[in-house]
Amino acid sequence: MRIILLGPPGVGKGTQARYVQQKLCVPHVDSGEIFREMAAKGTALGIKAKSYTDRGELVPDSIVTEIVFERLRTKDCAAGFILVGFPRTVPQCKALDGFLGESGVAVNLVIQLTAPEEVIVERLSGRCVCRQCSKNFHVVFHPPVGGTYCDRCGGTLFQRDDDMPETIKQRLAIFKQQTMPVVQYYSDRKLLVPISACGSPDEVFARILEVLNRVCSD
Ligand code: AMP
Repeated sequence: MRIILLGPPGVGKGTQARYVQQKLCVPHVDSGEIFREMAAKGTALGIKAKSYTDRGELVPDSIVTEIVFERLRTKDCAAGFILVGFPRTVPQCKALDGFLGESGVAVNLVIQLTAPEEVIVERLSGRCVCRQCSKNFHVVFHPPVGGTYCDRCGGTLFQRDDDMPETIKQRLAIFKQQTMPVVQYYSDRKLLVPISACGSPDEVFARILEVLNRVCSD
């Protein structure tokens, strides 16, 4: 199954992608996570991408598609995948359709996670992330038991450079401007299912499961 998890920054896509990955046994491919890994390794492309991500701007389509498609070509994505943070623009949607079409396959489902803006800002401004396994915590809602270390792998936690108040505003504005047309794109193709991302991660996942069960039994 080829699924896209769509939604504004901070809505919980990464967290839900890990739940869905466990359920469906297909990998999640998160474009933002790939950029952070590349930047941490200091690759030329990673450093170039960081100049955009730090400002809350989108990385150019040509760079993103090349990186994401390279990942989708790997063997573990052959049976399906969960895309997170990609596509974020209509040209990226069209590029993805073309890429999958070459193999005679297509996107099966697009889950749109939604939440009021104040919930998103609250989630982003308290977020901290494990440098090693990318697990997300929140200083108030999900504080790490290990203080500044990850409860899962012991890695160090950090606040993302793009989770600063001014950059959050910029990312939300870009989402409205450039990614809302992506919602329309998949709605027009009858692939879109909106789901409320309010509540605990378990509550949100229960809603996603209902949709997955329905789609899988169709
Ligand atoms: P995220 O972790 O999804 O919030 O992504 C972090 C940053 O990576 C974004 O603010 C963008 O700068 C960049 N990025 C991630 N995915 C994409 C994409 N599909 N298109 C353009 N830029 C992206």
